Amino acid sequence: MPIYTPPLRDMQFVLHEVFKVTDEFKAMPAHAEVDADTINAVLEEAGKFAAGVAFPLNISGDTEGCKLDTATHEVTPPKGFKEAYRQYVEGGWPALSCDPEYGGQGLPHTVNQCLYEMLNSANQAWTMYPGLSHGAYEALLAHGTDEQKKTYLPKLVSGEWTGTMCLTEPHCGTDLGMLRTKAEPQGDGTYKLTGNKIFISAGEHDFTENIVHLVLARLPDAPKGSKGISLFVVPKFKVNADGSIGERNPIFCTGLEHKMGIHGNATAQIAIDGATGTLVGEPHKGLAAMFVMMNAARLGVGNQSLGLTEVAFQNALAYAKDRIQMRSLSGKKAPDKEADPIIVHPDVRKMLLTAKAYAEGARALQVFCTLLLDKAHGHPDEKVRKDSDELVALLTPIVKAFVTDNGHVATNACMQVFGGHGFIKEWGMEQFVRDNRINMIYEGTNTIQSLDLLGRKVLGNNGATLKKFGKLVGQLVAEEGVNEKMAEFINPIAYLGDQMTKFTTEIGFKGFQNPDEVGAAAVDYLRVAGHLVFGYLFARMAQVALREIAAGNTDPFYVAKLQTARFYFAKLFPETATLMRTARAGSKVLMDADAALA
Ligand SMILES: Cc1cc2nc3c(=O)[nH]c(=O)nc-3n(C[C@H](O)[C@H](O)[C@H](O)COP(=O)(O)OP(=O)(O)OC[C@H]3O[C@@H](n4cnc5c(N)ncnc54)[C@H](O)[C@@H]3O)c2cc1C
Repeated sequence: MPIYTPPLRDMQFVLHEVFKVTDEFKAMPAHAEVDADTINAVLEEAGKFAAGVAFPLNISGDTEGCKLDTATHEVTPPKGFKEAYRQYVEGGWPALSCDPEYGGQGLPHTVNQCLYEMLNSANQAWTMYPGLSHGAYEALLAHGTDEQKKTYLPKLVSGEWTGTMCLTEPHCGTDLGMLRTKAEPQGDGTYKLTGNKIFISAGEHDFTENIVHLVLARLPDAPKGSKGISLFVVPKFKVNADGSIGERNPIFCTGLEHKMGIHGNATAQIAIDGATGTLVGEPHKGLAAMFVMMNAARLGVGNQSLGLTEVAFQNALAYAKDRIQMRSLSGKKAPDKEADPIIVHPDVRKMLLTAKAYAEGARALQVFCTLLLDKAHGHPDEKVRKDSDELVALLTPIVKAFVTDNGHVATNACMQVFGGHGFIKEWGMEQFVRDNRINMIYEGTNTIQSLDLLGRKVLGNNGATLKKFGKLVGQLVAEEGVNEKMAEFINPIAYLGDQMTKFTTEIGFKGFQNPDEVGAAAVDYLRVAGHLVFGYLFARMAQVALREIAAGNTDPFYVAKLQTARFYFAKLFPETATLMRTARAGSKVLMDADAALA
């Protein structure tokens, strides 16, 4: 059976030693009182819930899956899921980082981020039920009317109701401009919605008395394409004026998808058969309103892969210490045993360190991003708010695509550490690989993320935001450039930072002449950018570790941080050279290959 220990010490390192979050919170009126002890105590309790309640349901949830009663359209998730959700609500976890005005506890997003890392390690399929609700909360908070906020937010915050995100239709996923669900005004301020949605996560279940669907649809006078999409809130049960549950709204689950992974989450086909909804935000501006939810979800998907990478690593590490097989190439390491533990073999160590580095880099990136979100929402200085917002926008596609692609590499490597046993269900390793696979697809495929990064966020503003990130790298290089001990961490990012400008200009120039050049380079480009970001974060983590060691701290934790950073720069970061080369190979070999693809 797999194991999971919440990585509290690693989280504390990133939160308190690398980013010194409580110093940052002091500048934000809403969080000025949040201290390290409070954060640590909350995360310790969160870890107990994740490891003790959600994790034991991971394998059974995968085996059992969800069941639909086609007569009633009701869905029963796997055994234990409902009870775990009840405990989650009783513990006040849905409210952790929500606005106190609606019953929230008002803690920073950064703390919620760590809660969700642990939940995702424990059970990604279960975690998607509360996870989607949090996204719906964010979208309604940003764009809902006062009435909608009053009706829905307290229930989403308390966890009494959950939320969903209904975008995808059978004929359109990436290209939402083609969506057909209709919304007709009823003359009383409400709309009648008709259409079909597919692939709706947490789309139906029995945890709560109501489900709040956020649905994209077209008004009768909508312009064609993505400029004609509006956002509606469509509850499963209508809500009476006094807030009580009203009659059933005709928005039904008509089927459940049979999937490769996340079996415990109900991925619903939804028929909307004249259901009543209300408009969220302005007419035809639904995609922009939904983007609040989608951006939160994109960071959330990166966090799913961080969670799976961490839990896969923990299991692979324990196995590699225990499993004996063959002798070390450099002589017996466990002479008392029949063979050496497999952790002595260089390639097994490489697989383990790959997963460890990808987990630690992702954790630092996720905390970095959520701290920027906290600043974007709550910093008193407008310039800090604006800069933080821009940086999160730049980093969001990197979190979504780089961390989930790395999660694929890492969970596969960890499964490989188990040899044939990794392929066998009872060890739980193949489930981590299967569950991670969807993270590269939903919330905009990783290809779409790379086009968003290169096309919109880099070339779209002539590299202005990228330069802002480059400035952060430049500051670190200036700070540590003369420190010999930091050279192995600083030199690679200084070099890549310089190359990045030329690389970006070159693709931009080629793309100006032929847009397919951008499409052909984007995926490689995002990975290079991802390594620049990870490189910066690993250098910062190494900086803290070196300072501690120089100050006489003998805790092996800091030596481990240095060794992981060293491994990262030696074995993972150098793929940037190959990626730049393949990006530069251009679009011609792809677009001229009609005969090969005939
Ligand atoms: C388990 C699961 C849960 C989901 N949950 C939700 C949910 O809760 N709510 C929701 O609304 N949706 C959800 N989805 C849908 C998901 O977001 C879409 O599947 C995804 O966005 C891709 O859309 P698609 O499947 O239609 O693929 P398509 O859009 O048909 O894409 C097919 C391929 O073409 C590529 N492609 C498309 N356009 C371009 C382009 N311009 N350039 C380069 N490549 C391109 C894509 O990258 C992809 O590889 C879920 C899907 C799954 C499987």
